[in-house]
This record gives sequence, structure tokens and C-alpha cells, in this order.
Amino acid sequence: MKGRAAVCNTPGKPLEIEEISFIDPRPGEVLIKVSTTAVCQSDIHGIDGDVPGKLPGVAGHETVGYVVKAGAGLTRLKEGDYVCCTTSTVGCGFCDECLAGRRSNCTNHGMMSSMMREPGRKNSKGEPVSTLAGTVGGFAEYVLIDESANVKISEDIAPEKACLVSCAVISGFGSAITAGVKPFSSAAIIGTGSVGINAIQGSYFLGACPVIAVDILDHRLEAAKQFGATHTVNSKNVDPIQAVKDLTGGKGADYVFITATTASNALNKLALDMCSPNGTVCKVSLGGMTPESMKDIEWMRSMQGFGVARKFISPMMGGSNIIVDIPNYIRLYQAGRLNLDSLVSAEYPLEDINTAVAKLRTGEALRSIIKM
Ligand SMILES: [Zn+2]
Ligand SMILES: [Zn+2]
Repeated sequence: MKGRAAVCNTPGKPLEIEEISFIDPRPGEVLIKVSTTAVCQSDIHGIDGDVPGKLPGVAGHETVGYVVKAGAGLTRLKEGDYVCCTTSTVGCGFCDECLAGRRSNCTNHGMMSSMMREPGRKNSKGEPVSTLAGTVGGFAEYVLIDESANVKISEDIAPEKACLVSCAVISGFGSAITAGVKPFSSAAIIGTGSVGINAIQGSYFLGACPVIAVDILDHRLEAAKQFGATHTVNSKNVDPIQAVKDLTGGKGADYVFITATTASNALNKLALDMCSPNGTVCKVSLGGMTPESMKDIEWMRSMQGFGVARKFISPMMGGSNIIVDIPNYIRLYQAGRLNLDSLVSAEYPLEDINTAVAKLRTGEALRSIIKM
């Protein structure tokens, strides 16, 4: 099978539209005809080379499409199924982690385990083309992917909306669930891109009040109010630690989510300082998976201090159980309880993908959608 793809050949340079050939699905894999893929900040990390990845490569991991070819030995999907393609996993269903309800930690079909295989895509020079920022490669007409990374969804949701669930919603809203946000607790969300917006939606839905959005962009903070932020703090204008403490009776927020794409040691320190002594700091954004940022995680784990019982968690893709959660999020959207409509800033054909990426880089767009 051949199809167009937006290929990254050089880190940080514009993507190039090329024809790519795909092998037939191997056992356990499916070939998906892509309907839409949203552009996520993690894709930019992949394109810029600040998360590991081999070039040439295709980014894009918030994808919706139809199964057009099924490999041998599939257990759930068949040709014609309408699916959300993710970088997460539905898991095997039988290992200890799956049975404990933590399918994203499955020890048999682990998240990203397909990265160890040959990519199954080649460019016109015959070079293997890998996936960047996950295992989907959704900036293309076709996606070759493990069955376990897909969830079948009902056809009564448009792909332009459903694709947002594949990462932004499961990562943001999912983190709020995994962090265990309780009614009447307080939550602060640092960074109001679309993952942060979904951590806001999740915290609000789970009953937190106040839900405090922290950012340096006023238009983003304004948008955050539509998704359930009860208060906003522009950290360029005021001391965000003091502002969060003032809004939480002086103790700091019960839950602090780090969703800014520029995650750094300084930002992690900020999160700790605005978190209550018994609260939870949840690092959601990749923020560039450099050796330095990985050290940050170790550093944060050691930052408990004496006399505090803070928790630090960093669940990948929100730690979501996608096989259950994705259909639930879609039901929530259809019932008017999950806002996906205001997340979409604009739609572009694949040829204009570099414009879509640029709009996300500047913070102008929450999510740009690529329609194949
Ligand atoms: Zn399992
Ligand atoms: Zn993403």
C-alpha cells in the first residue's frame, strides 16, 4: 500500500510531503486509513528531536481512521472498524497489571513496545521510515499499528472531534482521574495547552473547586474558563505560588498538574511550592525527554522533604485504561459534559501541515486538525 505522509527528514525543519510504502500488517497489526490527526505539542518535540526518535520519521499520534487491512491473530478489530489510534495500549487483559485495572502498564502488550520492530514503512529511497512522538505516525494517509493501540468507537462522532480523545483528553482528563482528584479539593494546572485544558476539564468534572489555571498567555487563560477553570493566574504578572496559596487558604493546591510543554526543573520546583504538604504533583507533559528532564523526575522524587507526605506521579498518557475510557469520553462529549468543540482551532489539508505546526508552536492554536 502506498500513501502520502508528512515526513521529518531533518530535526526542526519543515515536514516534507512524500509517498511512503507500507507493508501488509504483520500478526497483531492493523493498517488504518487515516481520517484525521490532530497536531499535539509532543509531535513538535518529536519533530525537533528533543524526544528520542529515528529519522526519517512521521509524527502524529492523535489519529482516527478505519481499519482497511487486518493482520493475523487479531482479537478485537476487523476490517471496516472505526478506531481511535493511540500511543497507549489496551493491554492483554490478563497480566497482573491489566487485572488490577492498570492496563497502560500491561507487561505483555506494553505501551511503545512496537518501537522495537522494523517500522514497516519505506520512503522512495527504500529507507525505513519510523514513527515520531509515539507509535502511530498519523501525519499520513495510512498508519501501520498494533491492534492493542486502537480502540473501536461508534461512528456517530466526527473524526475531527474523536481524534482529540486519542491523546489530549486521555492524557489531561486521564491524569486528573489517575491523580485521584476528589470533590471540593483544589487543583492548579500549570500550562493551558490542550492537555492542560483537559486536566482542567477533568478536575472540574471530578468536583475540584477551585480549579486554578496558571499560564503566561492571557488568551489561553481566558479559554481555560470555558473548560471549568474557576480562577486564572498569569504568572508573568503575579507570583503564582502566592496566588495559588491565597486561593487555597494558605496551604497550596491538593493537586498540581504540570502540563506546560516547556517543563523544566524550575517549573517542577514551582509545582512543588504551590502544592499542599499532603498533595499530589502530577507531571503530565513530556517537556522534552532529555537526560536533564529525566533527572528532574528523579530530583522531584527526592524533594519530599521532612514532615511532608506529598506524592509525585508522572503517568504516561494519563495512565488511562483506554479500552474503557475512550468510549466513556465520547459518551461524555455526546452528552454535552466534555468540551471538544472549543479545542479545535482550525482544520488543514496534509499539504498545509507546516502551517498547522507553526500555529501550535506560537501558542496561537489549541489544536490544529489535519484532514486526509
Ligand atoms: Zn496485560
Ligand atoms: Zn499528544
